[in-house]
Order: sequence, then structure tokens, then C-alpha cells
Amino acid sequence: MQLLQSFMFDLMQDDDFEEVVFFQDKNTGLKAIVAIHNTVLGPSLGGTRICVYRTELDALRDVLRLAKAMTMKASAAGLNLGGGKAVIIGDPKKIKSEALFRSYGKFIESLGGRYITAEDVGTTVGDMRIIATETRHVTGIELDPSPFTAYGVFQGIKACVEYVYGDSNIEGLKVAVQGLGKVGGELVRLLNEAGCHVIATDVDTEKLRTFADIADITKPSRIFSVKCDVFSPCALGGVINDGTIKKLKCRIIAGGANNQLESERHGEKLTELGILYAPDYIINAGGLIAVAREYECSLRHREINRKSILREIEGVKERLIKIFRMSEEMVDRFGKSVSTQKAADIFAMERIEKVAGIRRMYLP
Ligand code: NAD
Repeated sequence: MQLLQSFMFDLMQDDDFEEVVFFQDKNTGLKAIVAIHNTVLGPSLGGTRICVYRTELDALRDVLRLAKAMTMKASAAGLNLGGGKAVIIGDPKKIKSEALFRSYGKFIESLGGRYITAEDVGTTVGDMRIIATETRHVTGIELDPSPFTAYGVFQGIKACVEYVYGDSNIEGLKVAVQGLGKVGGELVRLLNEAGCHVIATDVDTEKLRTFADIADITKPSRIFSVKCDVFSPCALGGVINDGTIKKLKCRIIAGGANNQLESERHGEKLTELGILYAPDYIINAGGLIAVAREYECSLRHREINRKSILREIEGVKERLIKIFRMSEEMVDRFGKSVSTQKAADIFAMERIEKVAGIRRMYLP
């Protein structure tokens, strides 16, 4: 037991986690982990993922990694929120039930608002509505975050194009999109409307059929080597790795997927290759911004203002340009420019550290 405790605290210590909570309810089959990474800026917000894991340790590692990314995303987006995330262990096709979500909602309520949940991979807006019967600390019930995420990625692509080509006109731009799900599919529609030439892929052949009239379709294995202006990963994490990086024939990587770089080293490699990388948690923050504003409105009994949310999401352009400039201006100890991912981490942490600093004083 002592060994387990010391191992757990080692894991939490690595990235300064505040709290990790395990919930179990045998009656409903619920097994959940909530990780609260950092609440300096406000209560933690992050989705609930339902997923099969090889081991419970894999689930723990996943939730820790995702919660930390939420801290960075919320801070960089200027939200008064911290980072948290939850995983429910199991196959979403098999374990979902009203009782499971209500039981989960009761556990979330017991955290007293330190963690606010929303939808994620394996959960839906409908599931959030059931959770809401037991807790106030849930959002993404009125607004589906995915179209907002896609809108932010679309705006981010424009910012990247302006930075690289000196012109934000994207008509005729060649964009390769990996993944035609909730984010990738909506992005393809936006790009098509803006006059881009889209090349798209998915492992789901049904989705390929749906998009065949607005995009050229390619095989999943070919998407990395498509000669294009922008490669937009909108499916999985870890897609920029040793195997794929050498195939890339693009000038820009700008997509909605979380954790696109397999490691920090791959961000540095992209800088060396002259490929501009839009850090994932900066460009895909649109959905978080939308559900954060929805939560605020629900607390204050106000109407949601979609237009003002879209305007706020457009701020992704300015943030990206700022980060790209930081990356060019900052050099590492070998005199090389730091990666855009590293610059984003510095940008996000700076705000948290400054706000944490004001709490050092005792003011009666
Ligand atoms: P989704 O499940 O709706 O879509 C993912 C799509 O990728 C599916 O159509 C799937 O078939 C496809 N896919 C899976 N493996 C593939 C492969 N090897 N090659 C090509 N296609 C493949 O998910 P989503 O909500 O669209 O999210 C996509 C990514 O964006 C995820 O990484 C998610 O974490 C991230 N993200 C989503 C949101 C959001 O608001 N939905 C917000 C931030 C980040």
C-alpha cells in the first residue's frame, strides 16, 4: 500500500497535480478517475472520456496527461479556468446507462465545483444532460463544442497562412485533412465554402462517401505525403512522429487533434524543417471557450450569445501569431529558435505563474 501511495504521488509530482480522485460504483459498473491538475486561474474544466484501457495504469496516465493539457489550453485562451479531465473505464458501446451517468454525476457534485465536466471522446451531449440531473458542475448541454472547435481551427489556418505567405486569403489553398469526424468534417465544410482544395481521409468508408463531393479522397496511409500547403490532423494524437515526419510535404501543420506531436523533439524537428506548427491546444480551444461561456451563463441565468462566442474564438489568430513570433525570437542554449509548441507552453505558464504570484501576499 505504501509503495502504491509513493508511486501515485510520484506520478502526480511530475507535473504538479493537485488532486486525483477514484470513483467506483459496483451497482452501475462505474469506474472513473478525475484528475485536477491546476486551479490557480479557476475551477478545473475538461471532458469525460469513456474508453477501454489495457490497464488501469494506462487510464491513470491518460487522464493525467489530458488534465495537464487542459490547464495549458484554458490559460492560453484567457479563460478563468483550471485544467482537469475525467475518464470512465469501459467500452462506451457497452457500459453507458442512465444509472451509470447519474451515479457519476453524484460523484462530480461531491467535488463541490473544483471540477466541471463536459463531453469528450465516447460521451455525447445527451450523456451530459443525464449527468446534469445530479450535478450543476457540467456544461456543453446547450452547445455542442465540436463546430466551435472546427471554427477555431479554420481561423487558425488563416493565421498560419498569413504568417507564412503574408496573405490571409485562403482561396485555392491545398489542405489535407486527416479524420472526418465532428471536428474534421465541419472543418472540411468550412474550407470548401472558402474555396480551398481539400484532400481528405478517414478509416470510416461511410464518412469518405459523405464527403466525396466536396473533397478529394485519399487512403489513410497516404495523407502524410500529400503535397499541400496545410496538413490538418483531426483524428488522433501522436501523428507527428519519426515515421510520419519524413513523409510530410506541407508548409503548415494546423489541425484540431489533441497531442499531435509524439514528443517535444518532434516539435523541434518541424522548426528545423521549416514547417510551421500551430500548437494543438492553442488552435483547438474553440470548443472549450464555448462550453466555458455556456457554464458562466448557466451560473448567472443569462442567455448564451453565440455571436460573441464566435468573436472570442477568432482570438485564436492573434494568439497564434504571438506564439509564432515568440518562437522566432526565443533561442535555446544552442542558439536555435525554440519550437512553437515550447513557445506556447511558455505563453500559457506565464499567466498561471503571474496569477499564482498575487496569492503570495496576505491581504486581510
Ligand atoms: P471523432 O471521433 O468525431 O472523429 C475522429 C475521426 O477520425 C473519426 O471519423 C475516425 O474514423 C477518424 N480516424 C480515426 N483514426 C483514423 C486514422 N488513422 N486515419 C484517418 N482517420 C481516422 O472526434 P472529434 O470530436 O472530431 O475529435 C477529433 C480530434 O480532435 C481528437 O483528437 C479530439 O481529442 C480533438 N478535439 C476535439 C474537440 C471537439 O470539440 N470535438 C476539441 C478539442 C480537441
